[in-house]
Amino acid sequence: MYSSGAAKLKPKGKRKTQDPCEVCFLHRSLCICEFIPMLTLNTRVSLIIHAKELKRTTNTGTLAVKALTNSELFVRGKLNDPVDLSKMLNADYQHLMFYPSDDAIELTKTFVDTLRRPINLIVPDGNWRQASKVHYRHPEMQHIQRIKITSQNQAIQHLRAESTDYGMATLQAIAYALGFFEGAQVEEELLNLYNIKLERTLKGRGVPITNKFTEA
Ligand SMILES: [Zn+2]
Repeated sequence: MYSSGAAKLKPKGKRKTQDPCEVCFLHRSLCICEFIPMLTLNTRVSLIIHAKELKRTTNTGTLAVKALTNSELFVRGKLNDPVDLSKMLNADYQHLMFYPSDDAIELTKTFVDTLRRPINLIVPDGNWRQASKVHYRHPEMQHIQRIKITSQNQAIQHLRAESTDYGMATLQAIAYALGFFEGAQVEEELLNLYNIKLERTLKGRGVPITNKFTEA
């Protein structure tokens, strides 16, 4: 027996937020833009994002770019408009790319202490399948030192089922890395922003929140 109501249910993964804020992608009544900090850091963040990923409401990488004045967004996958990533490889910076290859170095304080120049943290956003295309399709990126963070993400609720790509959302990964480069306060401010995004997204979906993350 199928009720007519069941037939109207949207397929899983096809939720569409009505009237979303253009910056945080949440419904306007749940907008978190007032909580986006404005951080000016020595560490540069270069986010490489696929055009398709840019439209996903669960994207968190773009929130990091909004919060960090010393950051830049590079959009891949635009038809007939290949992005030139070489312009991010400024010689004033030590370039490190989040990518869990076999030769990726685990991000630790000991490793960070060996770095002599300000860091350009290159972050391929989206899933690893897309990220691996950055790895192979952009020869200018092939010599960049890879780094990884293998800390366990203990949170019960996630923005996406597949947020295990980094073991965490992109904004969380950036927060943890900046914790090493810039200190605990920067890490906390970005994690707080992530938690607000998660909470409000779950609220927008009508999902009960199992543990309260924030005071917002
Ligand atoms: Zn907003």
